[in-house]
Amino acid sequence: MNTDIIKINNIVDDKEKINEAAKKIKNGGIVAFPTETVYGLGADALNEEAVKKIFIAKGRPQDNPLIVHVASKNIDGLVEDTSNIAKNLIDKFWPGPLTLILKKKPIIPNITSANLDTIGIRMPDNEIALKLIEMSGTVIAAPSANISGRPSPTDVERCIEDLSGRVDCILGGHKSDIGLESTILDCTVNPPLVLRPGGVTLEMLREVDNRIDIDPAVMKKSTNDLKPKAPGMKYRHYAPKAKVKIILGERKKTIEKMKEMVDYYIDNNKKVCILTVQENEKEYEKGIKVVLGSRENLFMVAQNLFESLRKCDDLGADIILAEAYEQKGVGIAIMNRLNKAAGFDIIEV
Ligand code: AMP
Ligand code: MG
Repeated sequence: MNTDIIKINNIVDDKEKINEAAKKIKNGGIVAFPTETVYGLGADALNEEAVKKIFIAKGRPQDNPLIVHVASKNIDGLVEDTSNIAKNLIDKFWPGPLTLILKKKPIIPNITSANLDTIGIRMPDNEIALKLIEMSGTVIAAPSANISGRPSPTDVERCIEDLSGRVDCILGGHKSDIGLESTILDCTVNPPLVLRPGGVTLEMLREVDNRIDIDPAVMKKSTNDLKPKAPGMKYRHYAPKAKVKIILGERKKTIEKMKEMVDYYIDNNKKVCILTVQENEKEYEKGIKVVLGSRENLFMVAQNLFESLRKCDDLGADIILAEAYEQKGVGIAIMNRLNKAAGFDIIEV
């Protein structure tokens, strides 16, 4: 398939270019586009044949539902009556990285919701995404724009790497601001439950309803007794080609253990990358250091996480050793993605 690559500088000068992509969506094509969370791969959410193409292009399991992206806070045509809590959440967090799970109306085809009677829905905080949705005259189903299982792309080059030749068009904007997928909140239960942590943190959600909690299965390795409620959360995910190991403990002990492991792997002729922060960077003499940001600003760490995992692959790493983060604020989402990338291979010191 021939993939058109269209770079957008701003929505005023490049309106016609966005319209080109919108036409492809209207005609049942699939288009990768920027959002503030990660880049998405979109199709007309109401067109069964178009949505099918997303699953094929990504190699995505059919039982993993897609999130519907809208350009307006009025979603009455798509979902059954929204509760007061959902309305308050929409008012406070949209446009933004919060997906709400709500009862769907029959207009949403089963392929989009993977046969569930609910649908995940959100309004992205990215002007190219919003313009694309508006101009396509429909709503857009879009999972992350990566081959299934790979770390989500946070810039256009990574979309091209994964999807060139597999999709109709790749729309490029700037790097994603958040860098992690949206927070998913199930609003079909009372109180609502977080099914996937993301940029809208638990603390922020609790300002709207202090009873909100996180699905306990999310931060643990899934077992027969403990399965995450979001279908997609059970899959191995966000995985670079290299093996990822997380070292968890207080700072000094973590660094000591990391150094010992780096020596061991280098002695065994392995290429080791160290995912670290500015504060600790100087402590490591050996291994390839990849700095995610600072512990003072975990949003920066979140923004760089997926790109750094991909960078380790580019560097030819066999092993990636990652320092752990405190499970507070966006640290919960960071640890959720890291845990999954590592297949829960965590070394406690
Ligand atoms: P992605 O768009 O690749 O970030 O994946 C979408 C995520 O949303 C997956 O983990 C899905 O399982 C989850 N999701 C989408 N729709 C629903 C739904 N109706 N109920 C529960 N989880 C959902
Ligand atoms: Mg994804």
